[in-house]
Amino acid sequence: ISCSGGFLAACALPVTAQESCVKNGSERFALVTGGGGFIGSHLCDRLIADGVRVVCVDSFRTGRRSNLAHLEGNPAFRLVEHDVIDELPAELKRLRFTRIYHLACPASPPHYQEDPEHTMMTNVVGTRNMLRLAESVGARLLLTSTSEVYGDPEVHPQNEDYRGWVNCTGPRACYDEGKRAAETLAFDFRRAGRADVRIARLFNTYGPRMHEDDGRVVSNVVCQALAGDDITIYGDGSQTRSFCYVEDIVDGLLQLMESEKADGVPVNLGNPDEMTVKALVDLVVEMTGTASRVVLRPLPQDDPRRRKPDIGRARDLLGWEPTIDVRDGLARTIAWFSSAEAPGWGTAAA
Ligand code: NAD
Ligand code: UDP
Repeated sequence: ISCSGGFLAACALPVTAQESCVKNGSERFALVTGGGGFIGSHLCDRLIADGVRVVCVDSFRTGRRSNLAHLEGNPAFRLVEHDVIDELPAELKRLRFTRIYHLACPASPPHYQEDPEHTMMTNVVGTRNMLRLAESVGARLLLTSTSEVYGDPEVHPQNEDYRGWVNCTGPRACYDEGKRAAETLAFDFRRAGRADVRIARLFNTYGPRMHEDDGRVVSNVVCQALAGDDITIYGDGSQTRSFCYVEDIVDGLLQLMESEKADGVPVNLGNPDEMTVKALVDLVVEMTGTASRVVLRPLPQDDPRRRKPDIGRARDLLGWEPTIDVRDGLARTIAWFSSAEAPGWGTAAA
């Protein structure tokens, strides 16, 4: 554990005092699992900017320390290197968290398929460990689930009542069935009165700090365009996605966590602005002015044909909707990947 004793001691509380501490809302102390990753690191930044003390737990399986380097030495932030599948260190179990943002899980298809058993266990055992922590300290837990729970959807756009069309034996199952099981566990804890939970179903998210070689389409295409490499479209590019800029997603997560109305229901968070993969590529080519060629590659198995969130529930319950359109978000993303801050984009995966 790379936490200093002082920080931990200041945040620890005898169990008997925890309930009143949580109830009166006087504490603003959050655990962020997966805080070293793309979305988690932006979330840590926002929480700290909002005056919350943050402990980040990450195994750095897909995240990286450079995402958090700017927080090093910040007295409101501590990093614990730990795999959520494993028993939590005793020091962590004693901390008086009031909020647990549970993001730990690889999100890009090549990453989560690299070790599917570990991905499934992260979702099931890791989520159970975090729910038990929430139960024991009286914290509210927010799980970042995914649009993948809808699989290759037969209804369009997808609202939260749609139960999905998921292949439980395919290569994506470790992730999408894993997230479905994580949601099940969260609702079982809630039904039994063991934990207060919120469920966010995130749709495709992009922005600075995406891993340049994690294989997702936005990072691949931007890095390929900037490097002048071939731009890879899988299939014919007619499949659709709806891309949401990371700042909007972080706003949604913070609002969902604090919402009383969203208790007991999963909530889609994403940008309903649907586009084909080909249209995304055309936009990146135009915006970067690249001379890269576009090449077609085989479509991966079980790749969803269409995906677009119905965000009616998020609008109704949270008053949330995205504010950053894809051109603006891509401009910020391209600027980041072009900057010295981005570690080695020249290695983008093809
Ligand atoms: P990411 O891979 O950048 O971040 C995930 C983080 O979790 C990494 O820092 C990784 O090291 C850590 N991690 C993975 N397994 C772990 C384990 N067993 N123990 C501890 N740490 C572990 O991915 P991201 O895009 O930031 O995604 C964050 C969350 O949002 C994930 O739960 C993902 O399923 C969800 N989500 C993301 C998207 C998206 O488009 N980015 C879409 C839907 C859902
Ligand atoms: N994709 C692509 N080229 C790439 C990477 C991905 O055409 O270099 C496609 C992929 O097959 C999918 C879409 O882009 O149809 C979005 O892929 P991503 O991995 O970003 O997200 P997900 O499939 O999880 O929605």
